[in-house]
Amino acid sequence: MMRDLLMLLMQIPGLSGNEDRVRQAISKTLADLCVESRSDRLGNLVATFEGDPGAPSVMLFTHMDQLGFVVRKVEPDGFLRLERLGGVPERALASQAVLICVGQGRDVPGVIANKSHHATPPGEKYHVVPYRELYVDAGFASAEEVAEAGIQIGTPVVYRPQSFALGPHRVAGTSVDDRAGCAVLLGLAADLAARKSGPTVHLAFTVQEEFNLRGALPLAQDLKPDIAIQIDLMLASDTPDSKELGDMYLGAGPGMSLYSFHGRGTLNGVLPHPALVRLFEASAEAQGLTLQRSAQTGVLTDLSYVQHVGAGVASIDLGFPMRFSHSSLEVCDLRDLDALVMLLGEGVSRIGPDFSLNRDEGQA
Ligand SMILES: [Zn+2]
Repeated sequence: MMRDLLMLLMQIPGLSGNEDRVRQAISKTLADLCVESRSDRLGNLVATFEGDPGAPSVMLFTHMDQLGFVVRKVEPDGFLRLERLGGVPERALASQAVLICVGQGRDVPGVIANKSHHATPPGEKYHVVPYRELYVDAGFASAEEVAEAGIQIGTPVVYRPQSFALGPHRVAGTSVDDRAGCAVLLGLAADLAARKSGPTVHLAFTVQEEFNLRGALPLAQDLKPDIAIQIDLMLASDTPDSKELGDMYLGAGPGMSLYSFHGRGTLNGVLPHPALVRLFEASAEAQGLTLQRSAQTGVLTDLSYVQHVGAGVASIDLGFPMRFSHSSLEVCDLRDLDALVMLLGEGVSRIGPDFSLNRDEGQA
């Protein structure tokens, strides 16, 4: 179930600001579970599960969009130039397959060119080509042909969607960030639809996260939750090039962030509410799950803005370990996603009228 759902969601292109196809797939999946959902002006999708009005309300959210590009310029000879949208790593761009998103059924595949190896002088062989110099070959011979295909400046472009199994438990492909989060919340929606009690939960699938965190904040201003829980990747530190990052292992269980901070530009981050840290520690223990811990700089989610809404929202980032973030082939482990559904289900069910967010009642 989780594998099929995730692999399906990864196949749907949804650049930031162009999430419509992803939203439609998710709202259809919710409808199949007999869960009603609604979208707002920005394109965020919300399903509200009404619950005990005496308990703190919960906004549980994850982003639908993915990073990518937009067409910046069409060359007279039919080649396309791209502008980046989101944190796209330049050193992994040459030779990538892309999909130019003109419309369902009319999308155009393309190739980010890599200069012929035979024509590459030794001095260039270890040089990263800046994205501005890269160009896309999409099979066109002129700007007129490009226009006829419906491609123009501003047309969305994503890594060509793909998803495949890696070993017995893992999935590799495009936009594991954050379709894996979407798959987890859909897994939870099935549980929430069948529950008998619990707090009001707003399950939200948000837009424009990769475009510097713009979708979730207006939604939170509308929903005014007491508690916000964001689901996204946790940087795995179990590869030869990432051992210094921390102790986050694929397949070892969901993760909880105790500290995130983004020092470049935004100067924002999240320090989780201690009552929520205790809640999910206790929930993991009750379910027999390992809960991994994360403390990272350079990582930022929508939650860093959501926490400022109203008189402040008690916040926590939870997620799944993921490798190779923002490259065209990200990797996660399905066991972590299943465990995350269990953790969230248990955690949310423990939020009753006596669940206190009062800091004076906390343990020092
Ligand atoms: Zn993400």
